[in-house]
Amino acid sequence: MASKLILDYVYEHETNRANQVYMTQPFGGDKVVDYTWGQTMDQARRMATHLKAQGFAPGSRIAILSKNTAHFMMAELAIWMAGYTTVAIFPTEGADTVNYVLTHSEASLLFVGKLDTWDQQKGGIPAGLPCIALPLAPKTSYETWDSIVSKTQPIAGKPARKGDDIMFIMYTSGSTGTPKGVMHSFARGTAASEGIVAYQEKELGKGFEYRVLSYLPLAHIFERAWVGCSGFVMGRGRIYFAESLDTFVQDLQRARPTVFISVPRLWLKFQQGVLAKMPQKKLDRLLGIPILGGIVKKKVRQKLGLNDVKMAGSGSAPIPPSLLDWYRRLDLHLVEGYGMTEDFAYSHTTTKTQQLPGYVGITFPGVERRLDEQGQVLIKSPGTMVGYYKQPELDKEVFTADGFFQTGDKGEVSKDGQLKLTGRTKELFKTAKGKYVAPAPIENMINESSMVELSMVSGIGQSAAYALVVPSEALRPQLKDPAVKASFEAEMKAVLDRVNAKVADYEQLRMIVVAKEPWSIDNGQLTPTMKIKRAKIEANVAGAVDKWYETKGAVIWS
Ligand code: AMP
Repeated sequence: MASKLILDYVYEHETNRANQVYMTQPFGGDKVVDYTWGQTMDQARRMATHLKAQGFAPGSRIAILSKNTAHFMMAELAIWMAGYTTVAIFPTEGADTVNYVLTHSEASLLFVGKLDTWDQQKGGIPAGLPCIALPLAPKTSYETWDSIVSKTQPIAGKPARKGDDIMFIMYTSGSTGTPKGVMHSFARGTAASEGIVAYQEKELGKGFEYRVLSYLPLAHIFERAWVGCSGFVMGRGRIYFAESLDTFVQDLQRARPTVFISVPRLWLKFQQGVLAKMPQKKLDRLLGIPILGGIVKKKVRQKLGLNDVKMAGSGSAPIPPSLLDWYRRLDLHLVEGYGMTEDFAYSHTTTKTQQLPGYVGITFPGVERRLDEQGQVLIKSPGTMVGYYKQPELDKEVFTADGFFQTGDKGEVSKDGQLKLTGRTKELFKTAKGKYVAPAPIENMINESSMVELSMVSGIGQSAAYALVVPSEALRPQLKDPAVKASFEAEMKAVLDRVNAKVADYEQLRMIVVAKEPWSIDNGQLTPTMKIKRAKIEANVAGAVDKWYETKGAVIWS
């Protein structure tokens, strides 16, 4: 068991780095506030006193419903110092899920923070649940963080937690069914966070200046582990929070991140943003000119706010190798990470020397991996969860007898130990051809087209598989123009031919169907971490599928 736990690191930074800026929070307009470690801990200690005074049983669940802010981080520290467990809810969840998580976790109190859709969420809060409004929260009648902090004394000393106390329960987005509560302990969470810090120091050097923009949801393990918890352990990093989607470029320019991690969908959006201003052909031509090429690369990186990036990464879903190549040509060498809620996002990564196209790299130090008879990836990580909250029967299903977690991902391993994900064991489906189709790798091929935002391969029980595609955001408004529509159709036909030339005959696509509307978190077709919700999308189109199969042609408009 680790000798030092995450709060021990935090107390050290409070003493040794009292005047060092730790977080930077925009408050709208021109107001931006920096918080030193001393200020952060002063506020967190005061709130800890208040929470402790409520007299909840040790380990009680305290929930946070908020976008990422400095006060989200302070609230978590207060919860831990007061002896409780955090439950963060995705700020995009609707009332039903908010209610489900608060009820299932039996939360004793809720922090309400920065939110865009509060009116659609507040109905989910159980009657009588005590709530505290964080700075930047929508207007409510709840007592505010500032008023509590201003009249409460800081908790004294160094309140400690036990290694097997639960630090947080993380409800996984879940592509199907109701969310599950993944429990992480202080000991394992600290061990995984130490591993993340060690990896970054190895790749970038011990003295590197760590600046990060925190904008992927902290309710998801990726951001909580890689920005939140590893930041608590490391101490010398500075976390900038984003103001809004509209100000994202300014937020990036303020932070000038040295480490920037994103998800494939956003890397694609940034690429499309560049190509909307400078077509690929022109970019290719400029990049090919000596000296000028270098200047153009720098200009594009500057425009993206990524010119200081020393480590760029992608994770949480498959990224097409061609997109990685595109960024490499701009001298942005993205590493790819593979991890999940259940292993504290501490599982695999590519490195400078081990990065075969299409592979997610090697295990982090301390992680064990093997494949079972079905090719399923099994993981034993220092950050492996304790189990699912109040669902011990599920733990029995997901762990092997020797403690490996069964990921549900299918994989292959190269000679030098790099892992390639080849699909989901649970997503496999059979067409009438009777053999399993793994949709993810086919979708990855389709998504290589810059005209495509997202795709989903399906066709359960049909004569052959088919793909549904959402055209790229930049293209959508132009599709009314017959010339644009014709070139899009030609590209989809070419994509279909390319895919069918590569896949086995039982995976051949019969057609590409253009989705009627884009898939989004709001319309329930993407999870909060922007993974496609297969079951939901399939249910929405179920009535039309047979008709598509009767229609002749390779590209069909739904
Ligand atoms: P979550 O628990 O929401 O983070 O989801 C974890 C799942 O996301 C994994 O089991 C994989 O199916 C998928 N995933 C994560 N990282 C990658 C990656 N680099 N490539 C492909 N799939 C990934």
